[in-house]
Amino acid sequence: MSLTAPFTLSGTAVPHDARQMLDQICEHFTEHANVSRVDDIVVMKNDSATAEIRLTGERLLIDLASPSDQALQMARIMLAEHMFYFAGDNPLDLQWSAPAPLGTIANLHHVTVTGAQDITPHMRRVRFSCTDPAPFLDGNMHVRVLIPPRDRQPVWPGIRDDGRISWPEGEDALVVRVYTIRKVDLQTGEVWIDFFQHPMPGVATPGADFARDARPGDRIALLGPGGGGRPEAQSLLLIGDETALPAILRILEELPAGATAEAIIEVMNADEEQAVCSHGDVSIRWIHRQTEGRTTALREAAKQAIAASPADRYIWIACEKDDVRALRPLLKGPEREKGRSYLAWYWER
Ligand SMILES: Cc1cc2nc3c(=O)[nH]c(=O)nc-3n(C[C@H](O)[C@H](O)[C@H](O)COP(=O)(O)OP(=O)(O)OC[C@H]3O[C@@H](n4cnc5c(N)ncnc54)[C@H](O)[C@@H]3O)c2cc1C
Repeated sequence: MSLTAPFTLSGTAVPHDARQMLDQICEHFTEHANVSRVDDIVVMKNDSATAEIRLTGERLLIDLASPSDQALQMARIMLAEHMFYFAGDNPLDLQWSAPAPLGTIANLHHVTVTGAQDITPHMRRVRFSCTDPAPFLDGNMHVRVLIPPRDRQPVWPGIRDDGRISWPEGEDALVVRVYTIRKVDLQTGEVWIDFFQHPMPGVATPGADFARDARPGDRIALLGPGGGGRPEAQSLLLIGDETALPAILRILEELPAGATAEAIIEVMNADEEQAVCSHGDVSIRWIHRQTEGRTTALREAAKQAIAASPADRYIWIACEKDDVRALRPLLKGPEREKGRSYLAWYWER
């Protein structure tokens, strides 16, 4: 054990194939943390935790260290959730040196709807009051939105012994969707989330529907923030569709003076464009899809812009899964500086 932050925890995982799982962990977290690997020892670091994972025979020995107990508990949840995801249908035994604390999850925030309004024909902003909005100022922008069934007393998740989240089931099951905190208002104690109203005739869209029907007084919970911060760079290229629009606009609004950013954003038509105020030097190119169907316009514009970008420019991309797959190879070449990109799919067609 070489980790020395004030809060530490160790664990042992016995997966079906320990080496394969170590490979999967490395591949996945490279997008989210500083990952280094020497033979069978992997070290992953971000602002809130360091994880060292060692392959020993058929087992993975895990050491976690964090500057706070809350961050440590979140790191445990994050790793456990991913390991069970990678295990799929194969067995995985995961045990920790100390049990998870009793009670609710450290970064579960209970929030109440204070208002909702359409800011464009297809983008609906819901405002939530919460006891302490300060954690949402954190560099991370995304949350899991937990929506309980209407007209039932909500049951919120806890933590299992293996570190995973235990979700309420059956009639108490929650709708869980990932969204971006568009704005944090410390004066009013509010956070805002912009929900894209993606029309899917005949298909349930619980996240979008929640926003459409939200009424003052509705109570939900937000789990986070986590999963992707605002890039700290002097030169940025931001590419995305409506689901990425809240994140892109927040990044642009919070740019420091002297930074430059070019954004390429695909929306249905000119009615879906939004204005932005920034201290940085910002240019936005809007692409109008003009159809509910699939187009390649964003992908093609992205390819050209990436090709024209210098190696040290930070490239941030979030959109539909197929577009992300098509663009990923362009960020992997030797001509691009490592750690200067964010690429995530925000929805799947
Ligand atoms: C890190 C992250 C941040 C995100 N931030 C935001 C945000 O701030 N605002 C926001 O609106 N979305 C955001 N998203 C995307 C959002 O989570 C998805 O669009 C989600 O699927 C919406 O849930 P739903 O219940 O409305 O639809 P689902 O039940 O998930 O899907 C129902 C159907 O709708 C289709 N569908 C889902 N999304 C879209 C879409 N955008 N366009 C067309 N069809 C779609 C699906 O293919 C499916 O057929 C984010 C996603 C991630 C991963």
